[in-house]
Amino acid sequence: MKQHQIIIALDGHSSCGKSTFAKRIAAEVGYAYIDTGAMYRAVTLACMEAGLFDQTDAPPEGEVERILKGITLDLKHNPELERTEIYLNGRMVEDRIRNMDVSEHVSYISTLAKVRRKMVEYQRELGASKGVVMDGRDIGTAVFPEAELKIFLTASPGVRAMRRYKELLEKGMPAELDQVRQNLEKRDRIDSTRKESPLKQAPDALILDNSHMTVDQQMDWFREVFNRTISPMDGAH
Ligand code: C5P
Repeated sequence: MKQHQIIIALDGHSSCGKSTFAKRIAAEVGYAYIDTGAMYRAVTLACMEAGLFDQTDAPPEGEVERILKGITLDLKHNPELERTEIYLNGRMVEDRIRNMDVSEHVSYISTLAKVRRKMVEYQRELGASKGVVMDGRDIGTAVFPEAELKIFLTASPGVRAMRRYKELLEKGMPAELDQVRQNLEKRDRIDSTRKESPLKQAPDALILDNSHMTVDQQMDWFREVFNRTISPMDGAH
């Protein structure tokens, strides 16, 4: 019997290991993994390349909208690297969008209502046939409030800064721990206080603080909650 397919919404703070966890979950249950942060990052990169941030940290929404109208975003699976990659106007930017310069500007871009509207529309299309693990900030609250399983992932700020710092160094990207920590704090602040779908836990989300957990321990936790969610649905057939 084919198992019931659901939407798994994974929200939480910056750099708490959401994408690692989401990818492992997707592989385990055979679902598609959708990284919504990559979409906001790609729009930010397009604005940076158009020079919108040259004179200011907060370019007017109208200018961002003009860029937004002219871009295409695509997600493609790369079987060689076993990862999904984001394409901006046909160019693969999966690695470029992880740089600190993009991280510096992305929270501003994601406060803009027009940007969010377009991204949410795209995300709903991608999740329409279910069987997806979608990671972001507003998946369980705004994109798929009806998602069958909502997880809110968090970890202490110190642990998150150290993880992100190590990740950047491993990728050969220059970084300073202090700068990484400040960027995380700033993004948390902007993400949690913005007017348009701020980062907040959905009332029916399950919270997982992974400060002192390995990925394997998180997967043990996930298996239990997934089975608890899916068993009554499969039993219903
Ligand atoms: O997940 P990641 O750190 O790559 O996300 C980058 C930024 O994109 C976040 O700091 C947040 O401002 C924004 N974002 C968002 N809504 C989402 C996903 C990401 O506002 N669903």
